[in-house]
Amino acid sequence: RKTQRLDKILGHLGYGSRSDIKKSVKQGAVLVNGKVVKDSGIQVDPYQDVIEFGGDTIRYREYVYFMLHKPQGVVSATEDLRDRTVLDLLAPDDRVFDPFPVGRLDKDTEGLLLLTNDGQLAHDLLSPRKHVPKTYFAHVAGDVGEADIEQFAKGVTLDDGYVTMPAELIVKEKQQRQGQVISHILLTIHEGKFHQVKRMFESVDKKVVYLKRMSMGPLQLDESLPLGEYRELTEEELLSLQ
Ligand code: URA
Repeated sequence: RKTQRLDKILGHLGYGSRSDIKKSVKQGAVLVNGKVVKDSGIQVDPYQDVIEFGGDTIRYREYVYFMLHKPQGVVSATEDLRDRTVLDLLAPDDRVFDPFPVGRLDKDTEGLLLLTNDGQLAHDLLSPRKHVPKTYFAHVAGDVGEADIEQFAKGVTLDDGYVTMPAELIVKEKQQRQGQVISHILLTIHEGKFHQVKRMFESVDKKVVYLKRMSMGPLQLDESLPLGEYRELTEEELLSLQ
């Protein structure tokens, strides 16, 4: 395994700027393998060497992977001037790793959102060439039927002329709400155009009134996670993505 500069590791973990860290190290606040070090530029192995800062032992990890059950009302960006972002839902201790959302869900969409600082994994999951399937559950105003299933399987033309790839539509049940039929559906798409699910239903004159992402590739939303909460991926989930 590769060694890294001590100040870089501590900086990554949120212990301050390089010069703050240099000062703390000079003052004797940092121990490596039980010995005070005075040079913040030394090479250490963050996985093997035991680093202590101000008495706390540091558990270093390069990559973090969080599964968030995204609620409505937050945007899946890292910064936004008006709205709260999904990063605001993370504890400060988890934000120090600089995770970012893998792909986007609309502000009013709920469900599975992966947050990581593993750029390669994010890139692979989002690569248009990989066609990673994403399954959504939706309430759709209108009577979704056989004709829609066939249309979606063939591809529909969106408002900008784009023809979607084959998608699998399953109708789960239908409800009457104020004299209107609401269809509960599952839709699996293999690409990720802007507002794709909503626009696919618009193209068949129906309106998505509730949308929730259930899965992305092999990763399934853990439904025991309350809305707005998150947890680390299990070893098994992480392996399934690689
Ligand atoms: N499709 C949409 O229309 N919105 C989302 O948030 C995700 C997929």
